[in-house]
Amino acid sequence: MSLVREADLIASVADALQYISYYHTPDFIAAMGRAYELEQGAAARDAIAQILTNSRLCAEGHRPICQDTGIVIVFVKVGMGVRWDSSRDLEAMINEGVRRAYLDPDNKLRASIVADPAGKRTGTRDNTPAVIHTELVPGETVEITVAAKGGGSENKSMFAMLNPSDSVADWVVGVVPDMGAGWCPPGMLGVGIGGSAEKAMLLAKKSLMEPIDMPELLARGPANRLEELRVEIYRRVNDLGIGAQGLGGLTTVLDVKVLDYPTHAASLPVAVIPNCAATRHVHFTLDGTGPAVLVPPDLALWPKVTWKPDAQARRVSLDTLTRAEIATWKAGERLLLSGKLLTGRDAAHKRICALLEAGKPLPDGLDFRNRVIYYVGPVDPVGAEVVGPAGPTTANRMDRFSDTMLGKAGLLAMVGKAERGPETIESIRRHRSAYLIAVGGAAFLVSQAIRASRVVGFAELGMEAVYEFDVRDMPVTVAVSSQGESVHDSGPPAYRGKFAGIPVTVAGAR
Ligand code: SF4
Repeated sequence: MSLVREADLIASVADALQYISYYHTPDFIAAMGRAYELEQGAAARDAIAQILTNSRLCAEGHRPICQDTGIVIVFVKVGMGVRWDSSRDLEAMINEGVRRAYLDPDNKLRASIVADPAGKRTGTRDNTPAVIHTELVPGETVEITVAAKGGGSENKSMFAMLNPSDSVADWVVGVVPDMGAGWCPPGMLGVGIGGSAEKAMLLAKKSLMEPIDMPELLARGPANRLEELRVEIYRRVNDLGIGAQGLGGLTTVLDVKVLDYPTHAASLPVAVIPNCAATRHVHFTLDGTGPAVLVPPDLALWPKVTWKPDAQARRVSLDTLTRAEIATWKAGERLLLSGKLLTGRDAAHKRICALLEAGKPLPDGLDFRNRVIYYVGPVDPVGAEVVGPAGPTTANRMDRFSDTMLGKAGLLAMVGKAERGPETIESIRRHRSAYLIAVGGAAFLVSQAIRASRVVGFAELGMEAVYEFDVRDMPVTVAVSSQGESVHDSGPPAYRGKFAGIPVTVAGAR
């Protein structure tokens, strides 16, 4: 019978969360490298280059891959022969590990968790509690998988109770376009089939903890019905042409995982959960001999892809920008922004628009006239950093505020990630504005373009405060032009149906 110490479990969970905040798994790096080689869409290829370059920078600098450092998900298999040297229960020990990881002063992670979710939504400040799933199994060890799941991808989770005669593949392929680009593809899809409603969701999440092995599966051929389903969904989803960040391209999913469970004869519960460009998980086992030892990945694993500002990209001065200049931007065009950029996301927008709608003035120092806003909630800086990783957040959450921001607040343009709704696109057209996207999952790389930062409003909102960034050559793509053309509508059709014809080989075998 093994004796597992409280201190070992806490230290292992804390180390695991720090580790996955800056290291992608080797299988993910290889799959993304392969997607980069295959990609034909220029904008999608540029986005993948940013994700790979960001990934390597984070591994070298031990800083988060994404500004959204996630909600912590923990799967624990406790051997029935394990005894514990602890006065706390298992969940309290795991949450102490979460607390230590997120407050680590050398690499402070963003605490995104709020209590009272349907009410005040008050931050718990240390990213606790984790979502913990525990099983009792035979044996004398504790097996733990720790994941940090981004809100953008978690928000796109889907569930349906199908009729038993319905096609699971048809349903999954049908809902992926509805997910939009807010889940920051390329990534993975986890599919859970069977059991009950909650079991299907759990299976989908659990399946995402497996390494990417689609190249191997394609090379050897499916050996059973679930593997056939994985291949079918993988090919059909990539055939949609959605591509990296929804810009249009060949790779939307790097792998599709499926787990199933017996279900009621009258039911076919199906869940799909995407995992994003910041796919983060690690597995370890405690056997009573001490904390887990997590070996850093070899930096030689990263493909030799180094994103550099595109010489063809148009350089834009934010300080002299006019509506006449914005009118010359084309959907899909790459820009490099320099100058002063304001920030703001959900909470700040809510306050600003409430004041404007009530005819009240904005607080001193807050003036959005002829300015560009970036939807971002950065990680706190450490050391000499101006700002921590600062990638875009999903823009359509700001759709309900955009017409007021463009009209009453006088905003020129917006920067975020993923698509906008039809009413916002019409508002952009009417106000001769534009919507630009930065790459989700390239947060540390984006933060390198930020040379100075100061809070200009709502300081009490913390990471949701309004900042003014001074940026130099910040890479963005025009997602909605002032004429109302959306790259998320116009980009994918060019790649629809093109994936199926691409030969697939095991990475490294070519
Ligand atoms: S890559 Fe996108 S979805 Fe994933 S954590 Fe970052 S912002 Fe969220």
